[in-house]
Amino acid sequence: MSVDYRKVHDQVASLSPSVSLMAVSKTHPYEAVLEAYGQGARLFGENRVQEAASKFPEPSRRPEGMKLCLIGHLQRNKAKRALEVFDRIDSVDSLALMDELEKRLAQLERTFPILFELRSSGEEQKTGFADEGALMEAVAHLEACPHLILRGLMTVGPLDGGGEGTRMAFRRTKALYDRLIAQGLELSVLSMGMSGDWTLAIEEGSNEVRIGTAIFGARNYNA
Ligand SMILES: *Cc1c(COP(=O)(O)O)cnc(C)c1O
Repeated sequence: MSVDYRKVHDQVASLSPSVSLMAVSKTHPYEAVLEAYGQGARLFGENRVQEAASKFPEPSRRPEGMKLCLIGHLQRNKAKRALEVFDRIDSVDSLALMDELEKRLAQLERTFPILFELRSSGEEQKTGFADEGALMEAVAHLEACPHLILRGLMTVGPLDGGGEGTRMAFRRTKALYDRLIAQGLELSVLSMGMSGDWTLAIEEGSNEVRIGTAIFGARNYNA
């Protein structure tokens, strides 16, 4: 097992010291998570509720300062479990999911931080709010969801990564983020950029990058 959080952290910091680095640990064992934690990682990302729940200890038993975010699509029937496992849900992508989370949180009398995911690339197979109009509807719907605290936006660049299409997708997302702030929303997280496109994302205004492969090595989905 070779985990290199420190190297990636230093690369990101040398480009922009104020950008947060999320270590995306999906498919990798908890030992690798602890190794990254030992190198300074505090923010972790997983894309599946079940995998995260069986990999990480329950929140009260985690190492000091460790925060876990859900970055994969969340089905409504797993919303309750997701609220028990994660510290933030970055992949909120429908009004129906907002309603389900709101209902559960009202029962728990808890507020909860979320990001809205924007499908900035226009690719059909991707999740996220389809366009600016859908995102603005979701922002308006926050009025009906007082327990959801919107902290910012997440987007995944186009599959063919790294080119002009990626840059434009990030630029569109940044423009929307700025617009929401201009409208008075108190946002602080613009989550864009993965192993293959994080430098481009930071150039386009990302302040949180989500890195898996460059920290933990290649994923083996058959393991
Ligand atoms: C897996 C994943 C990442 C990390 O991808 P790498 O290319 O391994 O850095 C980032 N964001 C999301 C939403 C992911 O599912």
